[in-house]
Amino acid sequence: MNKPLDIPPSAALPPAAPSAASLAMIDRLIGFPTVSRDSNLGLIEYARDELARLGVRANLIYDAARNKANLFATLSADPDRIKTGGLVISGHTDTVPVDGQDWSSDPFRADHRDGRIHGRGTADMKGFIAIALAAVPKFLAAQQKLPLHLSLTYDEETTFFGVRDLLADLAERGIRPAGCIIGEPTDMRAIVAHKGKRDICCRVRGREAHSALTPEGVNAIEFAAKLVAFIRQTADRLSRDEPRDARFAVPYTTLQTGLIKGGIAVNVVPRDCEFTFEMRNLPATSTDELTRTIVEFAERELVPEMRRVATDAGIALEVGMNLPAFGIASDHPLVRWAQQVASTAHLSPGAVGFATEASMFSQAGIPTVVIGPGSIDQAHKPDEYISYDQVAACEAFFDRIAAQPMSSEHRP
Ligand SMILES: [Zn+2]
Repeated sequence: MNKPLDIPPSAALPPAAPSAASLAMIDRLIGFPTVSRDSNLGLIEYARDELARLGVRANLIYDAARNKANLFATLSADPDRIKTGGLVISGHTDTVPVDGQDWSSDPFRADHRDGRIHGRGTADMKGFIAIALAAVPKFLAAQQKLPLHLSLTYDEETTFFGVRDLLADLAERGIRPAGCIIGEPTDMRAIVAHKGKRDICCRVRGREAHSALTPEGVNAIEFAAKLVAFIRQTADRLSRDEPRDARFAVPYTTLQTGLIKGGIAVNVVPRDCEFTFEMRNLPATSTDELTRTIVEFAERELVPEMRRVATDAGIALEVGMNLPAFGIASDHPLVRWAQQVASTAHLSPGAVGFATEASMFSQAGIPTVVIGPGSIDQAHKPDEYISYDQVAACEAFFDRIAAQPMSSEHRP
């Protein structure tokens, strides 16, 4: 069995084999159980110390509870000099949980078998982070040519709060990178688009009454149902009329109601009903506009009727998770450069169904492409793995980044 320490030095290996340094770093990072609900500080502080050992000062951006942190480091002896330009290499440190999953090995201990490394986060996406950390000495050797930044975030699998804070911190410190690579598992194929996702919680407040006297009450469930039906009509309209984006498995924007609760007994006109719906929009479709349509319908068609019976009745909408869609032109210089460097220029840039932090970096004005080792097919599942081939492909990608920096013509 291929244990990482059995691997000879990379110089003696055929090109498709990963280096001992990358494999050892993957082993190390998988050992930190950074499920989103738990702290990621073990991993972040380890990365900080590794960088410090190489003379790189990392900036840690903590959450309010100081239980989690992002890490941002400019791979340069003089990071203050390099505030504009440069390429960000970014990945999230958190993983989904393993609860209820049937694993063949300890998910938080990297298990090497049959040319694969199994463990939670190997594909999504501590493998990428580990390979990047192992490549830091190479990046430092190339620092005169290529300002590179390393970015590690938290809470990508849940709220995206980590990346928001990290980007706010960059803006505050006047750091304006020229581009960003997010190493989500794409088999090293460039991904240039994903849908957005917005969740909206809707609270309908009516008036209670004995069910023998329904005209004296305002039935919150029934008004909620009217709004749910309107949301469904909106979804039907989009599925019929919205211009298709054939890059997506579902080539149009979708809306659906996923949660609902209300009422206390069958003989009480319910005062409260609460439901949550989501939109998953194409990059070309605005969730603000869709939200406005729904709010307007509620205000025009439902609330006046409710208030004829109870003046304090109403409908309140609150946006929860709110991730913009991501889209960058397939022929953008950054995309073309990344494909060339990854040796995947023969694959046409793709779109994915899952959301990534690319939308947040793009929104902050940093052109971004998603490209990384491993496959999304293995992510979030029991026995998640990354293959040695993909580790080696990512290493080669970083080697070429260090050797052939983004030229000025490629710069966005
Ligand atoms: Zn991920």
